Amino acid sequence: MTASSPRLYLSAPHMGSRERELLLDAFDSNWIAPLGPHVDAFEREFAAISGRQHAVAVSSGTAALHLCLRLLDVQPGDDIVTSSLTFVATANSIRYANAKPVFLDSDEETWNMDPALLAEELDRRSRQNRLPAAVMVVDVNGQCANYTRISEICETHNVPIIEDAAESLGASLNGKPAGSFGELSCFSFNGNKIITTSGGGMLVTDNEAWAKQARYLATQARDPAPHYEHSVTGYNYRMSNLLAAIGRGQLQVLADRVDRRREIFALYRETLGELPGVQFMPEPDGFHSTRWLTALTIDAGRFGADREQVRLALEEANIESRPVWKPMHMQPAFADCEMIGGKVCERLFRDGLCLPSGSSMSQADQDRVIKIVRSQCSAVTPTISA
Ligand SMILES: *Cc1c(COP(=O)(O)O)cnc(C)c1O
Repeated sequence: MTASSPRLYLSAPHMGSRERELLLDAFDSNWIAPLGPHVDAFEREFAAISGRQHAVAVSSGTAALHLCLRLLDVQPGDDIVTSSLTFVATANSIRYANAKPVFLDSDEETWNMDPALLAEELDRRSRQNRLPAAVMVVDVNGQCANYTRISEICETHNVPIIEDAAESLGASLNGKPAGSFGELSCFSFNGNKIITTSGGGMLVTDNEAWAKQARYLATQARDPAPHYEHSVTGYNYRMSNLLAAIGRGQLQVLADRVDRRREIFALYRETLGELPGVQFMPEPDGFHSTRWLTALTIDAGRFGADREQVRLALEEANIESRPVWKPMHMQPAFADCEMIGGKVCERLFRDGLCLPSGSSMSQADQDRVIKIVRSQCSAVTPTISA
């Protein structure tokens, strides 16, 4: 029976009619090639909703992160302090700049960078006169890091923050939107993010010179001249006008998408939250998460099955779920990097599971997930189904 059920994805794209209209408008206007009026409009509209002066549309979130490091003039061998619990793109961007990631553990309250460890690390480095070139803070699973503390710590040491808000568009902290906390902040419109352009990213900042320089570097660093003149190495990182048109339509429904993901989270919590050993990713006071992905941890001893058994049971029913990010310091590609702490993110990886959370998911879809997860818990008496 379950084998024939359609595949339920972790976070499938969710398009509406406005996206289609705008895409066709771009198509019919023949503004297909990189740049065009939809790119300009998308940048303006995006800057407004993220509370920033400038937005630069690029080909991916990873490209946006890489540009940030260039804008800060990060040099080969520089240290960049970042979160270990993240998607690999964060760490890869640091490698593109030939800089060295220094990974930090998460805290229990936000699952993001532990401010106490950051304070210790920057104090230690300050005494040794080797402060990092930047701190790249990640907002995982739709929730901001604790910028109340992190911003203060970085200010004390005069170290710039790059905010990797790829997973947190639509979230806020004390009423301030995700993406407003870094000198430079980045978003992603990859296929599984809360809104998508199929692929794309955005860099936001209040610094006009940086925004101009980002556009310059992202278009092969072409100097003003009738011939093609280049004085530095650039990239082909700009977003196409077609994709920007889709992005403009998606941006209009962002608030609905956040509400729907939070609703999905609420139903999971209601139906699974009482099971022994289950704990959801916390949302401390002042934090407003998008619940981009519903993430929980399973204490195998109390639940009666471990995270992997639950994931495999879901897979058997054709349902995609995913372990919480495997920390970067545990990845072979980054095994040589410095790691500060690690107990928290290692446990989150061992016990953590992300459940299907796409905003286009139906209640019946979600019921399928809930039923399987409950069936794995030894405290649940199996119900005889017809
Ligand atoms: C998705 C993601 C990125 C990269 O975005 P792309 O658009 O896929 O390049 C960067 N950081 C984090 C934390 C992400 O989840």
